[in-house]
Amino acid sequence: MGYAKIVVPPGGERIRVDNGKLVVPDTPYVCFIEGDGIGVDITPAMRRVLDAAVEKAYRGQRRLIWVEIYAGEKAYDLYREYLPEETFEALRDFLVGIKGPLTTPVGGGFRSLNVTLRQVLDLYACVRPVRWVPGAPSPLRHPEQVDMVIFRENTEDVYAGIEWPAQSREARRLIEYMNDHLGVRVATDAAIGVKPVTEQGSKRLVRKAIQYALERKRRSVTLMHKGNIMKYTEGAFREWGYEVAAQEFGDVTVTEAEVWEKYNGEVPAGKILIKDRIADNMFQQILTRTAEYDVIATLNLNGDYISDAAAGLIGGLGMAPGANIGDVIALFEATHGTAPKYAGQDKVNPSSLILSGKMLLEYLGWDEAAELVWRGLAGAVRQKRVTYDLHRQMEGATLLKTSEFAEAIVENMDTE
Ligand code: NAP
Repeated sequence: MGYAKIVVPPGGERIRVDNGKLVVPDTPYVCFIEGDGIGVDITPAMRRVLDAAVEKAYRGQRRLIWVEIYAGEKAYDLYREYLPEETFEALRDFLVGIKGPLTTPVGGGFRSLNVTLRQVLDLYACVRPVRWVPGAPSPLRHPEQVDMVIFRENTEDVYAGIEWPAQSREARRLIEYMNDHLGVRVATDAAIGVKPVTEQGSKRLVRKAIQYALERKRRSVTLMHKGNIMKYTEGAFREWGYEVAAQEFGDVTVTEAEVWEKYNGEVPAGKILIKDRIADNMFQQILTRTAEYDVIATLNLNGDYISDAAAGLIGGLGMAPGANIGDVIALFEATHGTAPKYAGQDKVNPSSLILSGKMLLEYLGWDEAAELVWRGLAGAVRQKRVTYDLHRQMEGATLLKTSEFAEAIVENMDTE
């Protein structure tokens, strides 16, 4: 743990893994990346709220010990690189971290830092809970029915970045091979992308979704796919998903078919319902039959789309938290970008990062503190003391700065 630039404060202990389970001390080291743009505004607000929640929940018995690690512009200033090796090392050492948004310059020569972090650390599940904060603006008549957790596969699919431009040497060679040897006809001047989906990749994602559903006492896991058209990739994802459920969780799960065949249409008590839905249908289902969707497990591209669509039901990306989780390492993050035009103005909504912090607390098993974060945020929104983005959508609201909103959340932790 000899770092060149990262300063590890005294007084903390490392989170460990024992038999695949996290062992969390009372003063765990937790990494944070401030983030570019509005990171300077929302990251301090998030830390303020989490520290207050932990203090209130455990009366000083527990405390997060923050370790600042670097990515993006702040890393460049310190190391002359945007994603230094030390950052990966620290995340491997401390296992849990939270990050603000990072700039991805448009154009070649610079891969997304977010994607690099996910790939290098093999954070294969992108987890996005979507739950309505009472009082937040929503286009739904019954936003209280929105309580979904989306598990999006993070490493495969057309998102793996295997593609070539039209007319390139690689595209032409591949097309030639396909036309000559695989019995297909593809226009020789086509652009080409490849969609890898593996059994291992699909199963570990669905396994994580089912484990989460069990731990958090959720009702169902829906496998979302486009298997009617893409049979061997999306269709296989569906098959492998059902296989994991049957082979590894057979005693605690039940499929829709079994519910009708054996249980008269009623899910037996204590069992998690496993179902599947075709992706396009899912977009209308979350609007028209909102209450029926709980945990959703899906491939990369579907997951990207449905996560933002679902976030739209509860007030937009500013209210939606997220995390990228591997076998043990977890990196929690705001789902929006760096909103550069607002950077440093103490203006934007820190809710996405604060709710990601709530997920972090749950990941540590500190549910009492996580609950206080939710209570505080819900209280501030109920009082209509909000930042500009919610303010412009709510009648009679009081406009707060980012830092004032964090204080309003802390004040409301004591309310019911
Ligand atoms: P963005 O930064 O998410 O901002 C788009 C708009 O969303 C803002 O102008 C603002 O809308 C609203 N918004 C975003 N965050 C908000 C917050 N906390 N509170 C209130 N409103 C908020 O998207 P972008 O402009 O497309 O991207 C900017 C940079 O961020 C790019 O470099 C992009 O690559 C990067 N990015 C990073 C991540 C990440 O690190 N995970 C994710 C996405 C994008 P109004 O103007 O209507 O107020």
